[in-house]
Amino acid sequence: MTAELAARVRSAFAARSGYEPAGLWWAPGRVNLIGEHTDYNDGYVFPFAIELGTVAAAARRDDGRLRCWSLEEDAVGDVSIAELEPGRVDGWTAYPQGMAWALHDAGIGLTGADVLVGTTLPLGSGLSSSAALECAVGLALAELHGARIERRDLALLAQRAETEVAGVPSGAMDQLAAMLGREGHAICIDTRTLHVDAVPLELGDAGFALVVIDTHVPRRLADGAYGERRAQCGEAARILGVPTLRDVSPEEVEAGSEDLGDVLHRRARHVTTENERVLDAVEALRARDLPRVGELLHASHASLRDDYEVSAVELDLAVTAATDAGALGARMTGAGFGGCALALVAADRVAAVGAAVADAFTGAGLAEPSTFEVAPAGGARRHD
Ligand code: ADP
Ligand code: MG
Repeated sequence: MTAELAARVRSAFAARSGYEPAGLWWAPGRVNLIGEHTDYNDGYVFPFAIELGTVAAAARRDDGRLRCWSLEEDAVGDVSIAELEPGRVDGWTAYPQGMAWALHDAGIGLTGADVLVGTTLPLGSGLSSSAALECAVGLALAELHGARIERRDLALLAQRAETEVAGVPSGAMDQLAAMLGREGHAICIDTRTLHVDAVPLELGDAGFALVVIDTHVPRRLADGAYGERRAQCGEAARILGVPTLRDVSPEEVEAGSEDLGDVLHRRARHVTTENERVLDAVEALRARDLPRVGELLHASHASLRDDYEVSAVELDLAVTAATDAGALGARMTGAGFGGCALALVAADRVAAVGAAVADAFTGAGLAEPSTFEVAPAGGARRHD
């Protein structure tokens, strides 16, 4: 967490509430190394928490109310926690209010709180500012009320906040990454069992870097298409006679291709091959074989673009430009249709890749993306 952001959040809290916060809590954003659109199919994901994230300054109240402010948004929340209900709530306050609702619903008595948040993450770019917001607020509310909750359980409550109150259906990857992230590691999560395997992700010392390319393209079609893809996966699993696509191999998908038809065949092929790529990436990282990880990123992008059809012109351009400039591999990261791409690059090629991507966008008449390095950082925590 930057000291500068902590100081701004602390003083803004005092200005809005009229008193000092009881503490500051931090939760990071995340980048998914590989394993895209697998989390709602009971599959594997392999994200890591990053150094950008969200700070919540908070204090307990005794009147049952939750008041919230954000440095990024004008809207102010002021609700009675007992009266919160699931269902679509508009605006950013749905996330902290959803978190309070989920804790309350889990039987954790909340007496009320004032919360002010600020972030170093871009909002809506696919780096998971929503999960960082939920987890920073969730940790703050839990600790202020002396509740002892496992990190993993808090992540699952945050997912309920996002799905049931903010009305954004999602798997639990983002919240698990924010709560369980570990410095210097990517975490392979089996979303069926919630088993977490922290795998060393050595970059700088090994002469590599991970570069995020934020296209600034809003994920326009994301909502409708996300629901459609989920439904298609469910349908493909039904046709193959299994509970979820986790339960079939790529070979079984091939064997069922006629029954599936072209579209469902390609959707199922993406999910099953992507699960294998995650496990291969875990093995490659353990063997310190970064070039192999690069190949897997490349294959993941092709699969997301051609089989799952969730890429975008800008994401394809970012990936191609980065690869042409020498990246070991690159792919869209996050749900797609916009947002960010991720490139694995030799440390001495970072500037060249950034420049090549910028040139490619300018040459295509597109607004320049921002490029920045990311490294695996620790999970949500209290900041003293
Ligand atoms: P992502 O999680 O990838 O950034 P989402 O669309 O899931 O994208 O979440 C972005 C939304 O989360 C924002 O539009 C806003 O409503 C909310 N949000 C996240 N961080 C903050 C913040 N610090 N202050 C206010 N709202 C926030
Ligand atoms: Mg999000």
